[in-house]
Amino acid sequence: MPAAGAAPAAHEFESLSREFALVCDADGVVAWCDERCRRALAIEPGAALTALAAPGTRPKLVALFEQGAAHEVRDWEVSLIVHGVPATIGFSARPHEAGIVLVGRLAPEAYLRAIDQLSDSMQEVLTLNREVVAQKRELQKRHDEALRLHRELSEAHQGVLGMHRELEDRAAQLAEAAELKSRIVANVSHEFRTPLHAIQGLTRLLLDGLDGPLTPEQAKQIGFIRASAEELIQFVDDFLDLSRAEAGKAAVRVEKFELADLVAALRGMLRPLLPRDSEVALVFEEPAAASLETDRTKVAQIVRNLVSNALKFTLHGEVRVTFGVVDGVLEVRVADTGIGIAPEHLDRIFEEFGQVESAPPTRVKGTGLGLSLSRRLAELLGGEIEVESQPGRGSTFTLRVPPQHPEAREMRELVERSRHRAPGAASILVVEDDRKQMFVY
Ligand code: ADP
Repeated sequence: MPAAGAAPAAHEFESLSREFALVCDADGVVAWCDERCRRALAIEPGAALTALAAPGTRPKLVALFEQGAAHEVRDWEVSLIVHGVPATIGFSARPHEAGIVLVGRLAPEAYLRAIDQLSDSMQEVLTLNREVVAQKRELQKRHDEALRLHRELSEAHQGVLGMHRELEDRAAQLAEAAELKSRIVANVSHEFRTPLHAIQGLTRLLLDGLDGPLTPEQAKQIGFIRASAEELIQFVDDFLDLSRAEAGKAAVRVEKFELADLVAALRGMLRPLLPRDSEVALVFEEPAAASLETDRTKVAQIVRNLVSNALKFTLHGEVRVTFGVVDGVLEVRVADTGIGIAPEHLDRIFEEFGQVESAPPTRVKGTGLGLSLSRRLAELLGGEIEVESQPGRGSTFTLRVPPQHPEAREMRELVERSRHRAPGAASILVVEDDRKQMFVY
């Protein structure tokens, strides 16, 4: 046994060599400590161990000294402030002639690391928790907002439903009114046409001199009557066509034909519109070959309207008509060197009875229906009419229609599909009675 006050022999602590050791008196004043203890607790002989006690742990430390002085004590955990940081140390103690031998053991690294990790995790959990709470609050806000929007939407929906019902009622009333209008127009047109045709026939008889020769003045007057009757017949025909087109009752008769044949027919039909003494040249450009499948009569009717307008409003120069298929669309251009149309009137000319006041007096008076009818007919063919014009320089009207009527194309696709299912199947005749359409494949 070493003498009192002397350092304990190294072998006494051999089994504890990975720990630190110190000897202190009953008050905890260090009499001796090993190197590891100096480093671990930052303490020197002469210092009191109790000075390191963490707040509240001093009584436990004092109890350790008391018991260690009396008998052997194991695994006595005490919290000390080491290097300014709290550390848990497990002490074993036993009496020694110099006082008490203490063997200390810092809590294992893994344990400390686990505590550190735990505290980090706790921090993370707290942060997450704070975020979750914030998110929950945000979600609640959004939920409230969504509820409010839902309420507003369902109110708006109710409103829309109400408006929809009103619109349906109005549409039904309008359809009835349109039906009534077209019936009246059809009847009135008939009533007009009969006497007009009679006037036309009688004036022809008179002009042909079947009832005896006319004086030049009489022939001139009868010529005026005949021209007026023809104008009125044209007006009644346009009016009837427009009313049919608007009521969706215009029959679309799709047929296959060559563009060149249409142009030849139009040339023959439109040349007589040019007065003999006219200073205007009517030029039809030769079209490239193209096959069409649409309502030939309606295309011709539109082109006739455009050309007759161009001739009406052109006193010098030329009216040039060109045909072609551009980007898969049939394009007919009627370009004149006439009086042109001011930009502010370009929209009005397509309205029913839309005429431009400033137009100078021309040879033939119009009805103001030709362009609105032409536009409606173009729409029936799945196309459109556009105009470009410069006052004093001339106008170009362009009709664009699909070379194949959209419904004819649909039918053809339908038939193609059915042929795929039944190879060599017979031709199909499709008659769409309601809309007065007929397609044969
Ligand atoms: P209208 O029977 O009066 O010609 P339209 O509907 O065919 O009726 O034409 C409406 C108006 O558009 C015409 O009155 C005329 O003012 C103008 N317009 C149409 N085509 C031409 C053109 N080629 N040049 C100048 N003005 C035109």
